[in-house]
Amino acid sequence: MSEVVVVGAGPGGATVAALLARAGVDVAVLEKDPFPRFHIGESLLPCDLPLFERLGMDMAGQGFLYKAGAEFFDERSGDHARFHFSEGLPGTPGHAYQVERARFDAHVLDQAVREGARVEFGVRVAGIEADDAGVTVQTSQGPRRARYAIDATGQDALLGHGGRSIRGIEDFGLAAVFRHFDDLSDAVWAELADEGQGSIRILVVEDGWVWIIPLAGRRVSVGVVTRKKGVTLDLFDRTWAASPMLQRLTHGSPRTELRIIRNFSYRNVRSRGPRWSCLGDAALFLDPVFSSGVSLAMLSGERFADVLVPALRTGSEADPELTRPVSDHMARAYTTFGSLIGAFYQTHIVQNVFFAKDPDPAIRAGLISTLAGDVWRDDNPFQDMLLESKRRRFEPYAEG
Ligand SMILES: Cc1cc2nc3c(=O)[nH]c(=O)nc-3n(C[C@H](O)[C@H](O)[C@H](O)COP(=O)(O)OP(=O)(O)OC[C@H]3O[C@@H](n4cnc5c(N)ncnc54)[C@H](O)[C@@H]3O)c2cc1C
Repeated sequence: MSEVVVVGAGPGGATVAALLARAGVDVAVLEKDPFPRFHIGESLLPCDLPLFERLGMDMAGQGFLYKAGAEFFDERSGDHARFHFSEGLPGTPGHAYQVERARFDAHVLDQAVREGARVEFGVRVAGIEADDAGVTVQTSQGPRRARYAIDATGQDALLGHGGRSIRGIEDFGLAAVFRHFDDLSDAVWAELADEGQGSIRILVVEDGWVWIIPLAGRRVSVGVVTRKKGVTLDLFDRTWAASPMLQRLTHGSPRTELRIIRNFSYRNVRSRGPRWSCLGDAALFLDPVFSSGVSLAMLSGERFADVLVPALRTGSEADPELTRPVSDHMARAYTTFGSLIGAFYQTHIVQNVFFAKDPDPAIRAGLISTLAGDVWRDDNPFQDMLLESKRRRFEPYAEG
């Protein structure tokens, strides 16, 4: 019997496993797929940097691409805005990384293994049942017992789907079609990685947006996100054909097969109970336009470990509200990003603030700190403005 079973070895699960194991907790990570495996979600935020340090991760040494910030374009109007994280409010970490997830996720998981977590690949979990003495985790290889279980199964949302507690978030992005382009030309690579300093590009398009994420090794990830239902693969080609920038950047480059993900942007309205909690995408998934998913999953994982370690020591881990303080803390980030995403789609914030010709310097710096995920501070006028509107404010844990 392990003390804790973590289901899912993505960045959220690997982070909590690493920190639990470091504290001497006996932890098993059960992962259905062999690693390394492809995953989408390649652009990280600066707010992760202190956690990478705590975990002992060497991001630059691993060759991940430096990311200076984010650039927004509207090719229809010719508008362009560039935000470098180093221009945020004082104290905001100045850069982030672009990562190929197969390698990044394996790197986070390596830290967990180094700390003493046991990882088992090829084990699919079918359910988690709690009783007075512990939890039974039903797996493809038979049942496992533990004192506590964490559902870190990402968008598979094991307990959310099993318990019918997943609710779609209206008006956010619904689906994405994406692929990688390889062997970028010298000129394109210089534009994206040198001149652009590895920044993500976001193109605003009809009914959605496009990501352009440079990745180490002269590769670029391109994805189209739409709010329209019934998406098919040809959305990618249609968007590409309408964008001179996409055509120019990817001209002549070999491309991978198209992939598609549907039905994202949801909340899990029952994400904790006695001896179990859901973490990362298993608890909440926001439209990825501001690249918040990996960072918020990892920061939640860090906080989970910080509450679970003392609870296991005092035998209070059966408290169904054990991880409520983590949800309360993370609510600040999810509310901020959710409200920003709502404003991105439903207001003129892109034209009036992102593309403002003569922006208020304090608002601009505050926007940049928000984009960096530096959202737990109380001196950000942009964030205050965003959260002030009761009507537009996103409520991450609403029942609706
Ligand atoms: C189109 C798109 C673009 C995105 N872009 C970005 C971005 O640019 N930046 C960003 O930060 N985020 C982005 N995200 C979000 C990001 O991918 C996720 O937020 C992040 O991966 C969440 O981490 P996690 O650990 O919660 O889950 P995951 O990384 O999904 O890990 C879950 C793991 O659980 C395993 N698993 C699932 N079910 C079971 C089971 N039953 N038994 C055992 N194992 C199981 C899976 O195999 C997987 O390895 C994007 C998401 C989408 C859909």
